[in-house]
Amino acid sequence: MRIREIHVFQKDLRLKQPYTMAGTELTSLDSTIVKLVSDSGLSGWGETCPLGCAYQPEHAPGARAALSQMAPALIGESALAPLLLRRRMDASLNGHRQAKAAIDIALMDLIGKHHGLRVCDLLGGAVSERIPSYYAIGIDSPEESARLALEMADQGYPRLQIKCGGRSIDEDIAVIHRIWETVGNRVRLAVDANRSLSRRDTLFLSQACERIPVVIEQPCNSMEEIAAIRSQLRHPVYLDENTESVSDVLRAIALGVCDGFGLKLTRLGGLNAFATVRDICAAATLPHSCDDTSGGDIIAAACVHAGATVAPELLEGVWIGAPYYSEHYDPENGIAVTGGYLELPQSPGLGINPDESRIGRLTASFS
Ligand SMILES: [Mg+2]
Repeated sequence: MRIREIHVFQKDLRLKQPYTMAGTELTSLDSTIVKLVSDSGLSGWGETCPLGCAYQPEHAPGARAALSQMAPALIGESALAPLLLRRRMDASLNGHRQAKAAIDIALMDLIGKHHGLRVCDLLGGAVSERIPSYYAIGIDSPEESARLALEMADQGYPRLQIKCGGRSIDEDIAVIHRIWETVGNRVRLAVDANRSLSRRDTLFLSQACERIPVVIEQPCNSMEEIAAIRSQLRHPVYLDENTESVSDVLRAIALGVCDGFGLKLTRLGGLNAFATVRDICAAATLPHSCDDTSGGDIIAAACVHAGATVAPELLEGVWIGAPYYSEHYDPENGIAVTGGYLELPQSPGLGINPDESRIGRLTASFS
C-alpha cells in the first residue's frame, strides 16, 4: 500500500464561548486537516490545530506551508512504514513537528484500516475502553469559576484544570480557594498558568494554597525558571509548553525539574512520538495527560486512542475540544465527553469518518 494522494483542508472551529488563558482570549481556532489516499483506495485522516498563534512557536498557516513543502516527497512512499515516512519528512523539512503529526496521525488511521485494527492496538493495545477526561476552567471570577467547577464535578469529570495568570496573583489565589471550598476532594485539581507567572508569583501562589492538593502546571516560561524555585514549592509541578519534543522530555527528567507532564500529541510529532514519550514516562513513573492544543474529531480520536494505551495510574486524563465547540466532522461517530469520560471508538483506524462537507475548504492537493 502506497500513498497516492494528499489533500489539505482548512477549517475554522468556532467556540461556543471565548476560551480564556493567561493573556489570551480565543473565539475561533484555525484547524488543518489532512487526508491521505492510498493506491488501494483507503483514506486516512490527520489534523493539527494550534491554540492560536501565541501559545507555541507553530501557527496554523505555518503548518499548511510545511505540509506543502513535505507532501511531494511523500507521494509514492509506503503507507505501511511510519518510521520510514517520518525520516522522509525530516529529510525534506527540519522541525515543524506539529505539521508532521497530521501526516503521522493520518498514516496510522490508514494502517489501522488496512489491517482491520484500531489505532490503540497499533500503539500497543488499550488498557481501557473508557478514558477519563478533564475540563479546563478559563480565567474568570471566583464565583463564576466555582459555579462552573461544581457543574463539571456534577457532570462526572474526575479532574479539573484551573487556568490562572495574566492578572493579579491574589485573584488567582482567590479562585483556587473558592473552587477548593466548593468541590473539595470530589475532583483532582490542577492549576495551569500557561508560562505566565514570575517566580515570585509562583511562590506566592504555592505558599498561599499550601493546604490545597493541586498540581501546578507550567507556572513559568522556562525549565530554568522553574528549576530555580522548585525546592521552595509546596506542590507537584508539571511541564506542558516546555515539552516540544521527545528530547525536551528527556532533558526535563534529567534535570529533575518536574513531577509529570501535560503532553500535546501534535507538538511532540504525532502518535508515534507520543508512544515514545509514554514509555519514557512509564520508565520514570511520571504521570501525564494525553491531549492536544485543540482540534476537532480527528485530533480527539487520536488522543483517545493514545490515552487508552497509558497505564491508568499514570494517566491524568485526555482533554478534548468537543465540549467547547458545537459541531462534529463525523455527526455519527464524533468524539464527545459523557459524564466526564470518553468512549474508545470501535472501528478500525481512528474509528471516525469525517464528512467532507464539514471539514472546511480544500487548500492544496498533491498526487
Ligand atoms: Mg497546560
